[in-house]
Amino acid sequence: MTDMNSTCDYFNIDALLSDENKLIRQSIRDFVTTEIKPVIDHAAQHHEDIPNLMLKLGALGALGPYIPVEYGGAGLDHIAYGIIMQELEAGDSAIRSAASVQSSLVMYPIFTFGSEEQKKQYLPKLASGEYIGSFGLTEPNHGSDPAAMETRLLKKDGQYILNGAKMWITNAPICDIAIVWARDEQDKIRGCIVERGMDGFSTPETLNKWSLRASKTGELIFQNVAIPAENILPEVNSLRGPFSCLNSARYGISWGAIGAAIDCYQTAVKYALEREQFGKPIASYQLQQKKLAEFLTEITKAQLLSWRLGVLKNEGKATPAQISMAKRNNVHMALEIARESRQILGAMGIVGDFPMMRHMMNLESVITYEGTHDIHLLITGNDITGISSF
Ligand SMILES: Cc1cc2nc3c(=O)[nH]c(=O)nc-3n(C[C@H](O)[C@H](O)[C@H](O)COP(=O)(O)OP(=O)(O)OC[C@H]3O[C@@H](n4cnc5c(N)ncnc54)[C@H](O)[C@@H]3O)c2cc1C
Repeated sequence: MTDMNSTCDYFNIDALLSDENKLIRQSIRDFVTTEIKPVIDHAAQHHEDIPNLMLKLGALGALGPYIPVEYGGAGLDHIAYGIIMQELEAGDSAIRSAASVQSSLVMYPIFTFGSEEQKKQYLPKLASGEYIGSFGLTEPNHGSDPAAMETRLLKKDGQYILNGAKMWITNAPICDIAIVWARDEQDKIRGCIVERGMDGFSTPETLNKWSLRASKTGELIFQNVAIPAENILPEVNSLRGPFSCLNSARYGISWGAIGAAIDCYQTAVKYALEREQFGKPIASYQLQQKKLAEFLTEITKAQLLSWRLGVLKNEGKATPAQISMAKRNNVHMALEIARESRQILGAMGIVGDFPMMRHMMNLESVITYEGTHDIHLLITGNDITGISSF
C-alpha cells in the first residue's frame, strides 16, 4: 500500500519542486496544523474571524509572496505562491481567500500599476498584515460583466470624487484600504486606493452566508468620497488592470482547491480504513475504493495542471485562458471530492468534527467568485473558436 497520507503525491511531483518550495510548504502546513485546524470549525460555525489572522499570515511570508523583498514581500516564485495557497486552503478556503485577496488583488495592483510612493507607503504594511486590503470590482448589478460597471471616479478641483457601490467584497468590513475600480469621465476604467476613514466611505457586512463563514464579506459604498490625486493608480486605465489581478488570484485558487481536495481525500481514506460495516472496513468495498481511486486520480491531474501553469507563470508565458481552465477544472474537482467524500463518512460527514461539509460550502463560493464555472468554460470556448459567446 502506498503511503500518500503525508504528501498525497502519487506522481512524485515533489521531484519537480525546489528545496525552497518544500520548506515553504512545510512551514505553512505546520501553521495550518497548529493554528487553523484546531479552531476553524468553531470559527466557521460561529461566523467568526481567526484572531490576528492577517498578522500571522504576514509573519509567515504568505502575503505578497512574489512581491520583491524591497517592498516587504518574500520575493518568491509563482510555484511557491501556489504551494502557499494549497496549504492554506487545506485549512479553509476563508484563510486562502484572505491571503489571495491581499496578495493578488491588493498588493499586486499597487506593485504593478502604482507609483513608487504608493508602493513604499502601502506594500510593506500589507505584507506584514498590519493593513488589511480589499478589492472592489463586482457591483450589485454587474458581476460576470464588470465592463458594465457604474461606479464613477470624476475629477474635480485637483482631486477625484468617487460615487457608487461594490458588493460581495472579501474583507470589506475589516479592510484598512480598498482597491476600487471605477469609470472616469472618458469612460476609462481607473483604479484608486480608498482608505478607511475617508468621508462618505462605508463597508456594511453581508450576513447569513452559508459559505466562507470564517471570512468577512461586505459592501463598499461611496457617497461623494474625495480621493486625493496621489491615491489614483497611475499606470492603468482599462479593464486590463482588474483582469490582470484576477489572473494572478485565479492561478492561486487553482492550487488552493487542491489543498481542500487533499484534506477531504485524506480524511476519507482514514475513515474508510477504520470504519467497519458488515464485519469489514468499508474501504474493502469496491464502491468505496472507486471513489477513493477517482479522488486520487483527479487530484493528481489537478496537481500536474497547476504545477505546469506555475512553470509557465514563472516564465511569463501563462495565458489568461490557461489560467481559466486550471481554476475551473480544479475548483470543480475539489467540490466533487468534497461532496463524494462526505458520503464515505455517512452521517459523520455532516458534523463539524470532519471538514467535508465546511469545504463543500466554501467551494460553492470559490466556484462562483473570480469568474464563475460557466464563464471560465466560455473563455476556453472563445480561445478554441475565436468567437466570444458572451
Ligand atoms: C464569498 C464571495 C466573495 C467575493 N469576493 C469578491 C471580492 O473580493 N471582490 C469582488 O470584486 N468580487 C467578489 N465576489 C464576487 C464574485 O466575483 C461574483 O459573484 C462573480 O463574478 C459572479 O457575479 P454574480 O454573482 O453577479 O453572478 P452573475 O454575473 O449575475 O451570474 C449569475 C449566473 O449567470 C451566469 N452567466 C452570466 N453571464 C453569462 C453568460 N454570458 N453566458 C452564460 N452564463 C452566464 C453565471 O455563470 C452565473 O451562473 C465574491 C463573491 C463571493 C460569493
